[in-house]
Amino acid sequence: MSARIIDGKALSQKILDSVKQEVESLSKSGKPIPGLTVILVGKDPASKIYVRNKERACQAVGIDSNIITLEEKTSEEELLYIIDTLNNDDKVHGILVQLPLPPHINECKVIEAISPSKDVDGFHPINRGRLLTGEDCLEPCTPKGIIHLIKSTGVDITGKHAVVIGRSNNVGKPAALMLLRNNATVTVAHTRTLDLPSVASTADILVVAAGRSHLVDETFIKEGAIVIDVGISRVDGRISGDVDFEKVKERAGFITPVPGGVGPMTVATLMENTLKAAKGTICKTS
Ligand code: NAD
Repeated sequence: MSARIIDGKALSQKILDSVKQEVESLSKSGKPIPGLTVILVGKDPASKIYVRNKERACQAVGIDSNIITLEEKTSEEELLYIIDTLNNDDKVHGILVQLPLPPHINECKVIEAISPSKDVDGFHPINRGRLLTGEDCLEPCTPKGIIHLIKSTGVDITGKHAVVIGRSNNVGKPAALMLLRNNATVTVAHTRTLDLPSVASTADILVVAAGRSHLVDETFIKEGAIVIDVGISRVDGRISGDVDFEKVKERAGFITPVPGGVGPMTVATLMENTLKAAKGTICKTS
């Protein structure tokens, strides 16, 4: 039997609609409109597209967006000064510095300079720590989108064996923690994992975030598993996922396509995070 496709485009639209409704009701009750400031340093073409998509999403849901475009040669000091100003601006609820930054700027220093309560990317060590300890926090957008996609299948995560392929700080590790928070039994696999297909094929939920085109074929799949493909690679000018969709769909129960799976969810969850930051419900440390 062929897997059911998890439609990330449709699900992300539902999330955007619900954020839009909440923004409208905040505005009707005289509360401030959520505001997101995105800082782009340099001219990386992919970053420019990502920032444009974020701006469009803000416009669609009624969030105030402000894009600060800085020259490649901007100093770390200047960038830190801008972040400090934004931290102290009540109209700015979310601050996102588009990564990667030019090599002369220390990424960690920049992320740590953002107020944790405005860190809508969920990359600040305080938000990462809170995710680890299970406290309320701003969760990183892509893993948050992954959890939404899994939940949209209607399958209860509790007690399921989830295997995450990839242990990056921004995708694999937080996705594993969020699955754990949802009561899955979690295995994290990576480049040094021995016999990856047999580890993966024990998964009821398989999240693949390796960045290796078509790494996963049907030999990695337990019959009926939920398969979430996070990977984005460009192969012969086309976008390709980490999962060989055609082969895997014959064994999986549910599968995300690439494009149209995890990708659109990341922007939608950024809007959710900005709304959450604006509501000020996260316990603030600064
Ligand atoms: P990364 O390179 O930082 O991490 C990749 C991880 O996969 C590493 O931990 C590595 O150990 C593991 N890995 C690599 N090759 C492997 C292999 N052959 N076998 C087992 N493990 C292997 O990448 P990342 O930032 O975590 O992103 C992963 C992929 O997800 C990339 O393709 C990226 O473009 C994509 N991505 C998509 C979105 C989205 O919104 N759709 C967001 C973030 C990342």
